[in-house]
Amino acid sequence: MFRGKLSIIVPCYNEEEVVNETYRRLKAVLQESGLRDHELIFINDGSRDGTLPLLRSIAEKDPLVVVLSFSRNFGHQPAVTAGLHRCTGDAAVIIDADLQDPPELIPQMVQKMLDEEAGVVYAVRDERKGETFFKRFTASLFYRLINGLSDVPLPMNTGDFRLVDRKVIDEFCRLEEKNKYIRGLISWIGFKQVPISYVREPRFAGETKYPLSKMLKFATNALLYFTRKPLKMAMGLGFSSVVVGLFLTVYAVLSRVLYPETTISGWTSTMIAIVFLGGVQLLTIGVIGEYVGSIFDEVKNRPQYIIGETISGRKTKDRSRA
Ligand code: UDP
Ligand code: MG
Repeated sequence: MFRGKLSIIVPCYNEEEVVNETYRRLKAVLQESGLRDHELIFINDGSRDGTLPLLRSIAEKDPLVVVLSFSRNFGHQPAVTAGLHRCTGDAAVIIDADLQDPPELIPQMVQKMLDEEAGVVYAVRDERKGETFFKRFTASLFYRLINGLSDVPLPMNTGDFRLVDRKVIDEFCRLEEKNKYIRGLISWIGFKQVPISYVREPRFAGETKYPLSKMLKFATNALLYFTRKPLKMAMGLGFSSVVVGLFLTVYAVLSRVLYPETTISGWTSTMIAIVFLGGVQLLTIGVIGEYVGSIFDEVKNRPQYIIGETISGRKTKDRSRA
């Protein structure tokens, strides 16, 4: 039995068709499963429809509801970040407002966290219902790409629907980078992370608030912030071009000397200039890229390590700070 306080973080952008139902379902689950000590944090991410008045009236009736309303649309990830920064629970659930993530899974997640003494329980989509082929295809491509490129293991088919405990929330709050790819950062934070599978339902109502432009921004941020491999690739490409260029140079010079009558004049020098210089340029860009990458890592200012627990002869101190 979970004795602490549970925070539920719900980002909402133009969700007037669903917020009442989301609130009702969440509340029902929390009450039925005895999770009485809780808070519901709704983040209104600059909605332009009736979401805010609806949230306001929910908050007026229920003292356990907190509404954080943004001045404009900042995006899903900043909304969840605000929720994590402001929550006061011993653990927090991040859940979408559109009921694609079933609230009924929350008690199982809490139980799993207790049973396995996990820091994070993340929900893995077994099946995605009611989503377009395009969405599923681009999502699977994206997860494959980022997993292949990143050094941090990033679970496949996982959204932000997860339960995180206080130590993970505290570590998350210390991260200073501006464009947060939350599911990646939570993986990066570490501690014991266990999956729980579920079937992703279609949206309860309304349309996706993630048009292609937002999906692209999300994917670019994730790739930029979680891997420097593309920079390394420029270097590799440059290096191979230089090698090929060297061989070509030898070939061009030899053919000029051995068969002067069949070689078009000017070809040798042009070829050498193009291939060799191209390679040198790519290589140099790669080197500069490596420096830019290091500067980027410095600027992100993530801690270099996170200490999970400090054990000493006398007492066990739960987590000290890096
Ligand atoms: N969302 C948000 N700000 C945005 C876009 C989306 O807070 O700019 C919220 C949205 O209200 C929902 C969650 O993020 O609760 C996920 O969005 P959506 O369900 O539209 O994405 P999809 O499931 O289609 O990927
Ligand atoms: Mg959705």
